[in-house]
Amino acid sequence: MQSASILSPSKPSGKFSLPGMVVALAGGIAVVVSFGAIFSLITSAISFSIPLVVPAMLGAVVGYATMKLGTSFGRCRNPKLAVSVAIIAGVVAWGTQYVIDYGRFRSVAFATIVHELPQATSQQVDHFVDQWLQEETGQSGLVGFMFLKADSESIEITSHQYGVPLAGFRLSGFSLVIYWLIELLMIVGLAAYINRSYAKQPYCDQCETWRDYEVPMLGSPEHVDEAITAFQRRDIPTAIEALGTCEQGDFIRLEIEYCPRCFEDAYAKLVAVHDTGQPKHWTEQLLWSNRLDPNLTRQVLELAR
Ligand SMILES: [Zn+2]
Repeated sequence: MQSASILSPSKPSGKFSLPGMVVALAGGIAVVVSFGAIFSLITSAISFSIPLVVPAMLGAVVGYATMKLGTSFGRCRNPKLAVSVAIIAGVVAWGTQYVIDYGRFRSVAFATIVHELPQATSQQVDHFVDQWLQEETGQSGLVGFMFLKADSESIEITSHQYGVPLAGFRLSGFSLVIYWLIELLMIVGLAAYINRSYAKQPYCDQCETWRDYEVPMLGSPEHVDEAITAFQRRDIPTAIEALGTCEQGDFIRLEIEYCPRCFEDAYAKLVAVHDTGQPKHWTEQLLWSNRLDPNLTRQVLELAR
């Protein structure tokens, strides 16, 4: 994935491929349904739920899947649409866990009733299950099941440090509904966050492809003035040679943004990176920047890499 444009900031066009975005949404949902199933199985296998770990993982999976599909198939340059698709897939991801739980509940209930009443037809058994939910909660089907969960769910907090449950507490009624909302917000929020900026990345409308951003080389500051003059003369081989190789300490970063198909309208810049001596603290200064024609772009990419 490219980093943000090194050109002066331009507004994303808002365009996208409609069939591609449909693929992104459908594919994103397919991915989250399968992951939802896996997480649901894991949660039931370890027989307790670790609060907020599963939604965080689901949110990351949903966000990554919709971002990848929206970039490749949807070619989406509409940030609002990109985020909306992630939100829809996130809501589905949240619901999937409970639909799967509900399916498991029904099959257990079904088996129990068949055991008690071997003569009953499957239609009758289904009816008994719904009737029981109705009596317990006032609702049948998935809604009744969610009400039932709201009455009986228990959540355990485990400590990673000691690997043992610290506290088991029951969430029910209103507090469980709040917990579900937090889960939903976590999944949706994380998915939206991951998808917030890909649609703003530079794009070549002519070739219908994303532009590339690359740092083909890091050079030494020693002969940087010579390198800048050579770039201004459009003498790429001399410029690259003058940049030399990066030693320890301060260095020069060559950046280039280009369309990997047509190479039109590329843009390059030289940035001086100064090591302040403090750990992880660098200062940057723009030394030179300019557009490059396709021929010069190819030269830079060939010689600098
Ligand atoms: Zn192009």
